[in-house]
Amino acid sequence: GKSELVMVYHRLPYEEVMEQGKLIRRPPTSPNGIIPTLLSFFSTDQPGAWVAWSVHEPRSAVPFEVHTSVDKEHYPKLTAARVALSKHDVDVFYKRFSKEAFWPTLHTFWERAVFREDDWAVFLKVNRLFAERVAAEAAENAVVWIHDYNLWMVPAFLRPLRGDLTIAFFHHTYFPSADVFNVLPWRREIVGSLLQCDYVGFHIPRQAENFVDVVRGVAPVEVLETQSCAPRYRTYGCAVGLDNMTTRIKVHNRQIGLGAHPVGLDVERVRSLVNTRETQALMKTLREQLTGIRVVLSVERLDYTKGILAKLEAFEALLEAHPELVGKVTLITVCVPAAKEMTIYETLLQQIEQAVGRINGRFSQVGWAPVQFFYRAIPFKELIPYYLMADVMWITPLRDGLNLVAKEYVATQGLCEGRGVLVLSEFAGAAAELHGALLTNPHDPHDLRDTLYVGLTLGRAEREARIRELFSVVSHFDIRHWGEGFLTAVRDSRQRQEENE
Ligand code: UDP
Repeated sequence: GKSELVMVYHRLPYEEVMEQGKLIRRPPTSPNGIIPTLLSFFSTDQPGAWVAWSVHEPRSAVPFEVHTSVDKEHYPKLTAARVALSKHDVDVFYKRFSKEAFWPTLHTFWERAVFREDDWAVFLKVNRLFAERVAAEAAENAVVWIHDYNLWMVPAFLRPLRGDLTIAFFHHTYFPSADVFNVLPWRREIVGSLLQCDYVGFHIPRQAENFVDVVRGVAPVEVLETQSCAPRYRTYGCAVGLDNMTTRIKVHNRQIGLGAHPVGLDVERVRSLVNTRETQALMKTLREQLTGIRVVLSVERLDYTKGILAKLEAFEALLEAHPELVGKVTLITVCVPAAKEMTIYETLLQQIEQAVGRINGRFSQVGWAPVQFFYRAIPFKELIPYYLMADVMWITPLRDGLNLVAKEYVATQGLCEGRGVLVLSEFAGAAAELHGALLTNPHDPHDLRDTLYVGLTLGRAEREARIRELFSVVSHFDIRHWGEGFLTAVRDSRQRQEENE
């Protein structure tokens, strides 16, 4: 039968690798907490589909399998449905265009963006292929959940094919204000496509409201409903706070629901990792290597949006301003290599390595180095001991859709009654919901330095109170809350549209 729920995600929910000439499918090794949750929404008795791309060369001898099962044991009715793309299409659509045109613009670094009309044509083609695949898989009145900006144009192609479907879209990245978004040469097409949805979700209210402003740039908007952002979200005192958000609009006779759904964590998974013997042993080893030294931790992908260089410079300034900290504090910074072959990332890496070298050269002592720089991805379960031992988690993106690392630190500390301090950029989406974090402005070198100093010198009672407050947010608004909240809002929105017709 056809599928009642269709997930449209750029990747399959498993990895495919060739081992000794045989195709092996296994859960993804890269840390992505949301895939198991998304899978969990497929029921065992109703058919469902997961639509993703897969590389297929037109002249390849291996036949292309459109449909395969995902996990016969747990999800017997779930089918993976593939869109065949050539390697060239994947390179252009995913590796080049999304990262060169959309990623910088979405994160307000529009001056770095490169817009190529030829790439847009490939982007359209790929999005059309996705829409056609969805149209073929979906049952009458099915719910289609499309993920992220790589698939922005899917609703535009899908709606004319299937007026019956409930189409929902979730943005996983930041969504900028209209004066930034509107530089995109294809903004009218993108907005027009999103307006074909029944529901569009973002991490935080600010991003949803930015979207409404973007819509105003292309069509008259009638606001049907607004909601107060308090008490869940910060309404002031931070770059991403907002008083009220628009939750329902009408544009050219179509109603669209909007909402904030910050992605949460699988707290039980973190709990199971905190309590293992391996975690405790690794933490002990790490701690013994740094006896008597306070640890500041930073974990992120190598990306200019993450503010790594500014952070290193601020740490250097801290050691200059507070000589009493020399020999007493170490910054451990984990940096996950970015997609290869992009010069912008190579330059950034060189700058980071230079800064680390300079700081260590200036301040190191026998048995102590100020900065430990790890340029590799650490498996999630091995990050947990670092989260456990860090006195301060220092997260300073210049702009970030949400930031899961902040929540992972909070969960780990909260689960073991830790007393760690979260210092978080006020430009990260998570700043809107993580009451209890010390907020910092990563664009201001003095504020970066001084807020870290505050974090390092905070009294015990205040640290305990803050981590408790943070943990109550992270443990309540977990990953199930995110997914269920989103799907419920989608169905409500559709129902209201029907009542209105
Ligand atoms: N992560 C990891 N190993 C590393 C560094 C990061 O597993 O060495 C994971 C981290 O636990 C988190 C994710 O990568 O779940 C990063 O998500 P976040 O929202 O912080 O940033 P993004 O990379 O999505 O911008």
